[in-house]
Amino acid sequence: MARHNHHYRPKRSCPECGGALRIRDGWSKHALLHFEYVQCQNSECGAVYRVQREFTHIVSPTGKPNPTVNLPRAPGSALKPVSIDASQLQLIIPGE
Ligand SMILES: [Zn+2]
Repeated sequence: MARHNHHYRPKRSCPECGGALRIRDGWSKHALLHFEYVQCQNSECGAVYRVQREFTHIVSPTGKPNPTVNLPRAPGSALKPVSIDASQLQLIIPGE
């Protein structure tokens, strides 16, 4: 399990209070599944969440295919410019 830091900011806000979230830790379970702990920056809230980010489809084909990755092609209707952060981020309540 490789742990590493990230320098991007999550675009989702705290589900409880709407405050800004900051990533505290992140790790990859495998190439297609990534977890993060994010903490609400609102001092009156302070909630910490576990976030799951999963690659589900490939929208535009790669020029450097990885033989261990076999993502399904996205349906034609999904071929639109969407932010991976906004579309793939799922918030999971700790302790679930
Ligand atoms: Zn909050």
